[in-house]
Amino acid sequence: MKPLYPWQTESWQALQGLRARLPHALLLKGAQGIGKLDLALNFAQAMLCERPRADGIPCQECNSCHWFEQDSHPDFRLIQPEALSVEDGEEKPGGKKPSREISVDQIRDLSTFANLSAHCGGYRVVLIHPTEAMNNNAANSLLKTLEEPTDKLLFLLVTHKPQQLLPTILSRSLSFALHTPTRGAGAAWLAQQGVENPEHALAQTGFAPLQALDWAESGEGAEERGILLGAIRHPAKMDALALADSLQRSAPVFVIHCLQQWCHDLASAKLAGSVRYFPDQTAELVKLSNGISTAALMRFQKELQEARRAAFHPLNPKLFLESLLLAYRQLFAA
Ligand SMILES: [Zn+2]
Repeated sequence: MKPLYPWQTESWQALQGLRARLPHALLLKGAQGIGKLDLALNFAQAMLCERPRADGIPCQECNSCHWFEQDSHPDFRLIQPEALSVEDGEEKPGGKKPSREISVDQIRDLSTFANLSAHCGGYRVVLIHPTEAMNNNAANSLLKTLEEPTDKLLFLLVTHKPQQLLPTILSRSLSFALHTPTRGAGAAWLAQQGVENPEHALAQTGFAPLQALDWAESGEGAEERGILLGAIRHPAKMDALALADSLQRSAPVFVIHCLQQWCHDLASAKLAGSVRYFPDQTAELVKLSNGISTAALMRFQKELQEARRAAFHPLNPKLFLESLLLAYRQLFAA
């Protein structure tokens, strides 16, 4: 179990304050990559711990804590998409990719759990992560469970997209917002983790420290990112087809993410004269943004958003990228 992050102290205290009047479902919401899941896991373990510390932190020594650490606590269930439970890139028999959704079967399996009494006589905790990964049937099935709450059964719903949840699920949960840490707090933590240029890593990942750490550690896609950024800075000279060809081995979602950041900065340069993700290229971005129409840029940003939803399963990744890159170049053609 990861300990709490330094920026979570206040949230942790606030959660402890809720323990005397716990709802049936607690919705932990906030940006991606700020440690919501780790906070929720700590809280779940603390709920089950036999001798939590005075500040509510689990003792790490009791039987309950040992079971929790070994993923075998009988009063705890973690529900997440199969894709998060298996090793990266691992394929199921038959070459089927693990699902990115939480299925109705996963939620239905909970009903048995919900109807048993707690093994240890205290609370039972279900953590659903990320809650927006539930498909419609799963969400409706969860709703039924929430409509007939069981005593001493706590649902921790972790989400960075609460707007995608059923309003009826939202209305049956107590919302608990987790804030993105300040740049200073994020950078200080990243520096402790050995990240060489924390400010840069934060800016590349929307100021979410955990994502920034992943980004810095993996160096993943650095080369492709360089190629992409080198090309989109000169849309008039850009060869969209050749570019798609050289990028086709990187994950489409990664290319789209990078384009989204670039277009965010183009829009911001045009409308406000400032940028967020590529501060070292402000002048270039302002110059480029002068040549495009705001409406066309917004349409393209919307297209990127939709593409991102489809990006995990494009039928033909190269064609998929080509069409996005052509649309990008078209922005500057008028
Ligand atoms: Zn304990």
